[in-house]
Amino acid sequence: MPEKCVFCDIVNKKIKAFVVYEDLNSIAFLDIAPRSAGMTIIAPKQHYIEFDENLESSTTVFQAAQIVGKMIKKALNPLTVDFSIIPSQEVPHFHIRVYPVYEKEIPLVENQPMQTTEQELNDVANKIKAVHVEMPKKEVPMPEVKDEKSTGPSRSKEDVYWIKRESEVT
Ligand SMILES: [Zn+2]
Repeated sequence: MPEKCVFCDIVNKKIKAFVVYEDLNSIAFLDIAPRSAGMTIIAPKQHYIEFDENLESSTTVFQAAQIVGKMIKKALNPLTVDFSIIPSQEVPHFHIRVYPVYEKEIPLVENQPMQTTEQELNDVANKIKAVHVEMPKKEVPMPEVKDEKSTGPSRSKEDVYWIKRESEVT
């Protein structure tokens, strides 16, 4: 752990944050200077900077970000949610941002952070926390690869012979 890292302090509960989601590996908390209501940061509990310093952890952080994205969609009803993984000079601790996008609140970099109060942040956090999201635990099936034995249109022996011949020639 570096000398001073705000996200590590949040993980270790040394400083207060509006936590909306937490699991073994990750923690998600509201950005206190959001560009749209409900803008959330998801970080691994372990301190590292680059995504590929711990790919397994970064994968779980993204899973957590997807859960948070779904929670935000249900709780705050934005048009959509955007994700970003952009390293921060200020806080060199890997994180993913989830930005709810509303009709009038588009989270552009050039936009000034919204004026918000602790009470508002607390209300938004409570709304998000109240949502329960189930994520599929199954592995995602890969697109089916057709092989000769598949039940698709069957090839005659002759066709197969010529396919074989061709691959022998090439
Ligand atoms: Zn840290």
